[in-house]
Amino acid sequence: MEGEFHVDIGPQYEGEVIRKENLYIEFGGPKVSHRFELATVKSADEIEHEKVEIIGPDIGDLQPYDEEKGGGSYPIGILVDVAGGELDKDAEAIIERRIHMFTNMIEGWYHMNQRQDVWIRMSKECHDKGFASLRELGEIYILLYTSEMPIIEAIQVTIITDEKKVAELMPHALEVYSARDERARTLNDEDVDTFYGCVLCQSFAPTHISIITPNRIANCGAINWFDGRAAAKIDPEGPIFAIPKGEVIDAIKGEYSGANAIEADKSLGNYDRVFLYSAFEHPHTSCGCFEAIVYYIPEVDAFGVVHREYRGETVIGETFSRMAGESSGGKQIEGRLGTGLEQLRSPKFIQADGGLERIVWLPKDLKERFKDALEAKGLYDKVATEDDVKNVDELMEFLERTGHPWLKGEV
Ligand code: SF4
Repeated sequence: MEGEFHVDIGPQYEGEVIRKENLYIEFGGPKVSHRFELATVKSADEIEHEKVEIIGPDIGDLQPYDEEKGGGSYPIGILVDVAGGELDKDAEAIIERRIHMFTNMIEGWYHMNQRQDVWIRMSKECHDKGFASLRELGEIYILLYTSEMPIIEAIQVTIITDEKKVAELMPHALEVYSARDERARTLNDEDVDTFYGCVLCQSFAPTHISIITPNRIANCGAINWFDGRAAAKIDPEGPIFAIPKGEVIDAIKGEYSGANAIEADKSLGNYDRVFLYSAFEHPHTSCGCFEAIVYYIPEVDAFGVVHREYRGETVIGETFSRMAGESSGGKQIEGRLGTGLEQLRSPKFIQADGGLERIVWLPKDLKERFKDALEAKGLYDKVATEDDVKNVDELMEFLERTGHPWLKGEV
């Protein structure tokens, strides 16, 4: 696939990381407040096939990143609208997640995260080769979507960099993400005999496989069980596939013979067991796209959770990015679990270790976001945040003072 565009395209570029030294410009990421990507299934008459629209300044209009002055980070909204006789709403999350894979297939482009955390970088070499417009990015998306997903009969792509417009459209995207998560809460692992696996992140984390069950959303938070089912149906040869659940080996730890078999098959021989509901012994592998990390705090024999947006130090003195660096790459690390945030609402969230009742520290932001789940278990006032405690000694005092149920041995 060479010649039509300024850069090459192919799976060999997945895994290419663009660091600051090589950064020309970035869209989304932690330095901008508005960013999202959203796929929507529409009827054919709502779509102008192969149309690419850019709303806002293009690459050539924007200041690139400067090593001394910084900058070069801009808001982004990516809308992929598709139509096809066999497509329904179930396919939206899967089509949206392909933005990750397709961007990473472009020489000189790097895509991280998902949904409202999307973070895209373009390299200096890519710019030097003449890649100067987001229109080209949109055209490449259209080429890849139509060639890799024949179920798509019509597609249009809109890339928005105008901050006001991104801010205006983002609440709708957040509503769509919430509705997807809400739907997945209606089903439990006991109700199904098929789980789903995803290896999309193996380009960065070669031993990682996400195992997606009704009670376990993917690490990236972008693919739930319904999405996995839709993906496996649409593209049976693709990176998301069905896993027969097999025998229940341990219902509390979440060990299933089908999940173990796929772990052995897809982890380059590194692992042959996985506990879906525990952070110990054989925890799920962590890629690099996880929305949050569940981390063990030995002094209180309990866990904290920190999410990607939290910039400060956690109660153990480590930041999210430091922990992410140590925990990513597709490893099983006891006491460090990359996770999708929706997991905090799952009835099976680290259930073998005590579940939500074993969480003692959360960033304030996250505590508010999950207030209903914490209140339902009487934990809301008992979990510390960065405003309450600065270190583990203060945490111990806080937990004793508030009577956290885990420390009182009530769990
Ligand atoms: S985090 Fe997991 S589910 Fe999400 S894209 Fe990566 S491998 Fe797939």
